[in-house]
Amino acid sequence: MEMELPSYVKTAIEYLNRNGYECYVVGGAVRSTLLHEEIHDYDLTTNALPEETEAVFRDFPVIRTGMKHGTLTVVIDGEMLEITTYRKDSGYKDHRHPDSVAFSSSLKEDCARRDFTINALCYHPEEGILDFFGGQEDIRKQIIRCIGDPEQRLNEDALRILRAVRFAARLGFTVDPLTKAALLKKKETLRYVSEERIRSETDRFLAGKGCPDLFTEYIDIFAVFLPELNSLSETEKEEIREAFRKAPDNSEIRLAVLLSSRVFPDAEEVMRRLTYPNHAIRRIKSLLSVKDMPFDTETDIRYIINRLIPEFDCYTDYMKAVREDFPAERVREMHDAVIRNGDCCFLSDLAVNGKDMLALGLKGKEISDALQKSLSAVIEKRIPNNKEEIIAYLKKKCKSDAYTG
Ligand code: ATP
Ligand code: MG
Repeated sequence: MEMELPSYVKTAIEYLNRNGYECYVVGGAVRSTLLHEEIHDYDLTTNALPEETEAVFRDFPVIRTGMKHGTLTVVIDGEMLEITTYRKDSGYKDHRHPDSVAFSSSLKEDCARRDFTINALCYHPEEGILDFFGGQEDIRKQIIRCIGDPEQRLNEDALRILRAVRFAARLGFTVDPLTKAALLKKKETLRYVSEERIRSETDRFLAGKGCPDLFTEYIDIFAVFLPELNSLSETEKEEIREAFRKAPDNSEIRLAVLLSSRVFPDAEEVMRRLTYPNHAIRRIKSLLSVKDMPFDTETDIRYIINRLIPEFDCYTDYMKAVREDFPAERVREMHDAVIRNGDCCFLSDLAVNGKDMLALGLKGKEISDALQKSLSAVIEKRIPNNKEEIIAYLKKKCKSDAYTG
């Protein structure tokens, strides 16, 4: 097989080779090429020590990203390229970090420390593909398989448990039976992995096409960091699988789907536990909060727009997944009409503001109450979004409120 390498990658390989060092493209880029997927970044591996790599690229900007792990970033033609020295990792006591990182002079050794056979393929423009662990065959068979003894490899780094399921979901692969048994057996060691890394892998898992089926198959793994899942009934699990299937391959929508389940009464607490950033929490909470709002009239739609933080498409995608018979097309048409008409849906679009309320002699909480009442009247089209009309409405309302208490 021949890989069409971009010129900055070829340049880097040539520089190292000309100086007497080996250099190969490794990992994701080779895997993606064989899968006819788009390549988003190239990783190079070399027997040159980090200082030697630095010397070879002395005429280029070099960022000393992870010298301790043997990684340098070289900038060629404005492109960033990571070059890592062959490594063999040894001794993992904490299920997370190798106790020591030893550089190696053997490409095969460097491949052997990688996680899965499909991630240990190398490529050189003259030598073609180098495949020490049967990665090409596993790609053909669509299998995720640990290199070496699965239990030992997962013991070294528990994150690999989630990486296996994530790659399977993303690529639509299955997990080799021995690797699968080890994933389930070693699942508790995920407790040693930081919440950030769990979140990042989970997000990538949720965005994978294999997510619906794999979630059910590996629910015990997810239950290690989401213990709420243990109280799902079989029917509820099936409902989540169905909802995941109806949702697009999108992590945010699938997370909202998951957190809509009865077993997660407090979505915010779950997301905080997994270190989601505030903006992500706000978006999901907003989706969850519009789930039970009516969607039958344009007024309903204006209220939904008012509450919704993510794009309207997120709302319809989410609702299609969680609500039986959600009339997505009709809702979309009503939404388009609301937008086309420039209907006011937000306080910021209202023709009056706080100053106008002050001028009416209102103060403190009266002001926000009056604005909120005006917005509701405008959203419901009981009055037009016009300053005089709103003020007249408020004055009338004050009077009648005074009578009714
Ligand atoms: P993508 O970036 O598309 O998700 P990738 O294969 O590039 O896929 P990365 O996480 O960027 O994955 O890692 C690059 C390579 O480093 C992998 O292909 C694998 O060979 C190796 N690798 C990464 N993480 C681990 C790990 N936890 N254990 C062993 N090897 C790993
Ligand atoms: Mg990568």
